[in-house]
Amino acid sequence: MGKSTLFNRLTKTRDALVADFPGLTRDRHYGNGRLGDRPFLVVDTGGFEPTARDGIMVEMAQQAEQAIAEADVLVFIVDGRAGLTAHDREIAARLRRAGKPLVLAVNKAEGMRREIVAAEFHELGLGDIHVISSAHGEGVRNLVEVCLAPFPLDPEDEDDLRGPKIAVAGRPNVGKSTLINALLGEERVIAFDQAGTTRDAISIPFQRGGKEYTLIDTAGLRRKGRVFESIEKFSVIKTVQAIEQSNICILVLDATQEVSDQDAHIGGFIVESGRALVLVINKWDAVDSYRREIFKREVARKLSFLGFARQLYISALEGQGVSGIFGAVDAAYAAAMIKLPTPRLTRALQAAVEKQAPPKHGLFRPKMRYAHQGGMNPPVIVIHGTALEHVSDSYRRFLERHFLETFKLQGTPLRVQFRTAH
Ligand code: GDP
Repeated sequence: MGKSTLFNRLTKTRDALVADFPGLTRDRHYGNGRLGDRPFLVVDTGGFEPTARDGIMVEMAQQAEQAIAEADVLVFIVDGRAGLTAHDREIAARLRRAGKPLVLAVNKAEGMRREIVAAEFHELGLGDIHVISSAHGEGVRNLVEVCLAPFPLDPEDEDDLRGPKIAVAGRPNVGKSTLINALLGEERVIAFDQAGTTRDAISIPFQRGGKEYTLIDTAGLRRKGRVFESIEKFSVIKTVQAIEQSNICILVLDATQEVSDQDAHIGGFIVESGRALVLVINKWDAVDSYRREIFKREVARKLSFLGFARQLYISALEGQGVSGIFGAVDAAYAAAMIKLPTPRLTRALQAAVEKQAPPKHGLFRPKMRYAHQGGMNPPVIVIHGTALEHVSDSYRRFLERHFLETFKLQGTPLRVQFRTAH
């Protein structure tokens, strides 16, 4: 079939036996490939013999099964010169059951007319057919591009090493500056640049328990001695900027006031920008239990769309409950940055569809085949299938809730998108 030749070309090595991972037999080969700045890992199977019964063939089939289980994308290579065989059909059926992106490559096609080579394999029903010659390198680059397409690079990956960027947002006088000082109180503020204070939202990097965080200020803070002081009026632009620069927002509410439209607007903007969120209800010290109950009910009613966030009741002034914010921030950040492999997502999708199938729309019955992760912060889950343009908004929301619950993601919104194959 030419798997080893293709493997070598993908990994640019002459040696297909790159099995330097412990515990591998030599029938499964791992190699690193790269397309531009995109790294990828290639697993070569020893071969796939679905009808094999004994000896080496069974061993090889097991290796192939394991490789299928591990992979994000399956490339099925058939021999363009030999033509379609019964064996190809069996393998195609098996691969389809894996519920993963499947790419068909017709190999050994050098010097042959593409359409003619491809025609025969259409009946496998595996979508686009990629006619390649791994010996000559024809069509291989395109094949890799197709395989990598569902897995976009996240440009923020490197940034993440510096830990969460936290915007503290809220309307004037809710206690943002007081809270920032309380949060920073005991912590080590790392190099801090005041140059940008006049126009930009400034950021304040600090460490806590060996971890790094960066606070992005919305309140126009200036440092005065050991404390930060607010020197400006509330600025919508600064708030919007800070939210956009952040990974996670702390939305501060004032328990002594009513929940206002402005609170809801800022919350709405945070949700739209997809940021993770912790809801901090401040000045809890200044309200009695009667008022506390009323406030909780108001939050539930007026800010119900922020229900995905954890709520913390604190007093920034007295430092009560402030340290608990870090736990909530860490959890929400972890949820926002989660990486979910295609097989786990696809299993969760299948469970959702079993629980509640997407309703028929006229003559169309939307069919969901597999899911892959298309982004982080917020997690974006891209569902592939047919007739998905007919899926209702309420079903999409059902899926979003299902994924959040299945993966126990608290504190981040999550988005489901559909990609229909035509
Ligand atoms: P900002 O405009 O959101 O930065 O709010 P500030 O931090 O400047 O606080 C506004 C006012 O609320 C100040 O008088 C603070 O002392 C007061 N304040 C802040 N946090 C608390 C709190 O937890 N309890 C009480 N009782 N007052 C607070």
